Formats: sequence, structure tokens, C-alpha cells
Amino acid sequence: MSAPQTSLWRVIRDEKADDDRPHHVANMVLRRLEIEQPPVPVELIVLQLGIRLKEQPSAEWIGQVDPTVDPPVISINSDDALVRQRFTMAHEIGHLLLHPLNRMFRDTTLARRGDVREEEANEFAASLLMPLWMLDRFAKSKRYDATAIAGFFKVSYGALAMQLKKLT
Ligand SMILES: [Zn+2]
Repeated sequence: MSAPQTSLWRVIRDEKADDDRPHHVANMVLRRLEIEQPPVPVELIVLQLGIRLKEQPSAEWIGQVDPTVDPPVISINSDDALVRQRFTMAHEIGHLLLHPLNRMFRDTTLARRGDVREEEANEFAASLLMPLWMLDRFAKSKRYDATAIAGFFKVSYGALAMQLKKLT
């Protein structure tokens, strides 16, 4: 019998350097899965990484990740708008790849400033959904305004605007 295959999330977690920035780790995921065009298929990424995905309504949280079970579980609030669900999903992947595995992360908002881990998970999410190398071509083109680009990438206008600022 062959040894059980190691889940891809664990492979990437083990491959990254301790001081890797969140956007480097996001690029490791995109490279490994050969994703080069928007919209980044974040739901498929969750499954290909070997993570379980649950969608359920909640009045308390927008997303959570439980790394203490095997396979780990990401839960997404199905009441949220699609673009927000996508960003939250990417944010929870970030926790799983970057942060300690001994406890659950529960997010009631993604706007928690001053919390390093939350900021890292947000940086990871923005870099996974809107990597600057993918965004650059659209940003330079005169044919598309920001609303159109947000549509191509399936992200909110606000999230896109923050990422576009890094290009200028
Ligand atoms: Zn978080």
C-alpha cells in the first residue's frame, strides 16, 4: 500500500520559509495550481488544497477556519455577497497557511486593524485574488475602468482599489 498523500495545504505550509511574506505564499499557491487568469477560482483552490468547505448562514461571523481537525474546515457565511465570500475564503486560507494550527480562527469582520495575523490574512487574500502581476495588465490598459476590473476579478470595488494603490 502506498503512503497516504500529503494534503497540498500542508505541503505549501512546509515549503514556505518562516519569514515569507503573505504575498509570496499566495504566489506559491497560484504557481502550484497554474492559475494565471482572473477570476481566481478560490473555491476550487480550497478543495485542491485539501480543505473542507462549509457554507452556512450566520448572524455572528463572516468566516472561520478550524485547523485542529483533519481535513481542516473553512466555513463561510452564505448570507454574504459573493465577492465578500470569496475574499473571506481567501482570508481563511491565509490563516491556515501562515498561522499556528492549534486553534480556530473566527472572523466577525475583516477590518480588524492592528492585529498582525488579521492583517497578514488580508494581505494573503488580496494577493491570492488580485496578484499584482495579474492585475498590472488590466490596470495599464486604458480600456477598462476599476468597476470593470473588479468584475473580471470578482472582488469588491473597495478591495480592488486598495490593491491598485500598490501598483502606483
Ligand atoms: Zn481572520
